[in-house]
Amino acid sequence: MAGVIRRLDETVVNRIAAGEVIQRPANAIKEMIENCLDAKSTNIQVTVKEGGLKLIQIQDNGTGIRKEDLEIVCERFTTSKLQTFEDLTSISTYGFRGEALASISHVAHVTITTKTADGKCAYRGNYCDGKLKAPPKPCAGNQGTLISVEDLFYNVPTRRKALKSPSEEYSRIVEVMSRYAIHNSGKSFTVKKQGEMVADVKTLPNASVLDNIRVVFGVAVSREMIEVGCEDQKLAFKLKGYISNANYSVKKCILILFINHRLVESSALKKAIETVYTAYLPKNTHPFLYLSLEIAPHNIDVNVHPTKHEVHFLHEDCIIESIQKHIESKLLGSNSSRTYFTQTLLPGLSASVSEVKASSSSSAEPGERVYAHQMVRTDSKAQKLDAFLQPVSKPASVTITASTASTASPPAPAQPTAEPEDSEMLEVLEEVETDASKDLQVDCEPVQSETPPRKRAHVDEDKAELTAACTPRRRVIKLSSIKELRSEITDQTHKVLYRGTHDSQFLRLQEMLQNHSFVGCVNPQWSLIQHHTKLYLLNTSKLSQELFYQILIYDFGNFGVLRLSSPAPLYELAMLALDSEESGWTEEDGPKEGLAQYIVDFLKKKSEMLEDYFSMEVDEDGNLTALPLLLDNYTPAMEGLPLFILRLATEVNWDSERECFRDFSKECSHFYSIRKQFTLEPDAADGPDAEPSWRWKVEHVLFKAFRSLLSPPSRCSEDGSILQIASLPDLYKVFERC
Ligand code: ADP
Ligand code: MG
Repeated sequence: MAGVIRRLDETVVNRIAAGEVIQRPANAIKEMIENCLDAKSTNIQVTVKEGGLKLIQIQDNGTGIRKEDLEIVCERFTTSKLQTFEDLTSISTYGFRGEALASISHVAHVTITTKTADGKCAYRGNYCDGKLKAPPKPCAGNQGTLISVEDLFYNVPTRRKALKSPSEEYSRIVEVMSRYAIHNSGKSFTVKKQGEMVADVKTLPNASVLDNIRVVFGVAVSREMIEVGCEDQKLAFKLKGYISNANYSVKKCILILFINHRLVESSALKKAIETVYTAYLPKNTHPFLYLSLEIAPHNIDVNVHPTKHEVHFLHEDCIIESIQKHIESKLLGSNSSRTYFTQTLLPGLSASVSEVKASSSSSAEPGERVYAHQMVRTDSKAQKLDAFLQPVSKPASVTITASTASTASPPAPAQPTAEPEDSEMLEVLEEVETDASKDLQVDCEPVQSETPPRKRAHVDEDKAELTAACTPRRRVIKLSSIKELRSEITDQTHKVLYRGTHDSQFLRLQEMLQNHSFVGCVNPQWSLIQHHTKLYLLNTSKLSQELFYQILIYDFGNFGVLRLSSPAPLYELAMLALDSEESGWTEEDGPKEGLAQYIVDFLKKKSEMLEDYFSMEVDEDGNLTALPLLLDNYTPAMEGLPLFILRLATEVNWDSERECFRDFSKECSHFYSIRKQFTLEPDAADGPDAEPSWRWKVEHVLFKAFRSLLSPPSRCSEDGSILQIASLPDLYKVFERC
């Protein structure tokens, strides 16, 4: 029996259409975020309940909606953004054209509360199926718009059923929001679950793109970013963004792509970019990229279906090729501006910090390009470590004698040329900024008490050669052992992020470290911070140890040099250590003198490697002359030095490359971490050259670095490194009872 054909009821048609446009909470939020941005908002706060299925609330501080317009905002094809068909071809966004709010109102209960700048008060209206249910009511409200979307898909049971997991929906919301937050850096975005005090994404109003990448994806990514940017008049496009360098890789490619400020996907572009990276990254690993592409609006198909995230545009192949070339060139001249420091360690003279800035311009001539794949070391077992000891690639220890710096003839420069055959590790050559106004400061050797501690080699354009010769270069480390240690760190922190879901525990720790107020030091080991309404006790010793460990692994092979004012004999250091109780020395270990001599001989044998990788220098007579500079303005407490030397010989597994680097970094970070011994230092004396007090170092050096360089491992919240000791709401409760 043939069915009777009937015309569908209009609301049913609308509902079906709406269900096509809005498929899940994250879509709805994306559309509404774009509306907030179109309305010039600078602060957007999203609160959700049950992954947005129960409630989505978006508050902005934009222009607001005029009372007269409240009647029609949720009707289809109403927009304040374009009037004629011609407008369509010139708009730079290509979204819904008056369909978003209408669609949402067909599948959810929508309430809009809004106030314009010149409106006397705010107005609130409730919407159902595109229509205002009753005339808007005056109410109190700040300028801007608050849109609540309740019970999404309450009238579309099949769709509702398909969205089973609120936590899955929530992580999609967090993903969309954090991407828009990165793209719109400078504006602040917040996402949280209703009833929670702490936001899962929170960006600050004055944050940079890099700050926000760090907030969302972690320090490990943000520190390895290269800025990109190019423009092509003929193809009418402009590109800006950040891409990861060859030091960094993830299991799954992350490409955050905005085209004309709308979050989209382009598998063609993604594939093309991945091809470029294959020459730089280990097998089966991928880059991280944030790209903002602007294309002449008339080259984009504005009528692309709203749910289609995948975009195509005119001259796609040419534009993609041009982007590929740009990325390749950036990776070759990789590791953009980095600042290196060298510093003279003089008691009471820590002001002698010198700074050498390397610019990102590649020094390789275009003709003699050496491609990365020709230099990659593929198997760490194929060659021994010693093969990589390249005196030429010495990075940050810029040491020029005082006399050289003042005479016109520079020392014979080590030629900074790429040697594809034997300098596998050295890939990137950089030139220094030859800005005449910039002083290249170097430390002097030998340091004499009558010479001023800071000698400056002035860099003129005509001395650029000298500059290039002694400019530290950031080496790209291709050792798989180091890569493994790096991913070990990321695994302990935010690996969950990359699986698409997010680890709020990690975000919480990270957010707390980034946005806290420093309260004060209890002692060198413990500090107090406030975060939101809570007071925390932080174990500065443990956190600083973790920080230095991460620095040692990430900046491996690229440290500045802390030169000791006078060489420290290893033998005496070892004897001091053996005399101490902590060494655990017993008669059975044999005479101390023999052990101490063994330690000296042993470390002397390792000196070449220690110097090259860790900037730790041991001279031929068995004296320690330099230590790595891990953080500017920070020197370890020298009381810990003897035990550090002893433990290098006894606690480090020197036989396996990875274990060796790991153990060394563990010991070294323990030595550098702030401990009780720091109280032995004289407290702050006056005068600019005085050694800053340990309190100053904790607040201004360590906590500053915690904000920007530390990825807190999730164990921090369990091992007592971070303890909550008071919460304001709970305190109120206590006082209420009194
Ligand atoms: P479109 O964005 O394509 O115009 P929408 O359905 O998304 O279509 O929005 C309809 C209209 O509602 C917009 O043109 C705008 O005038 C108004 N509007 C929506 N959200 C906001 C907001 N947060 N602030 C100010 N106006 C808004
Ligand atoms: Mg819109």
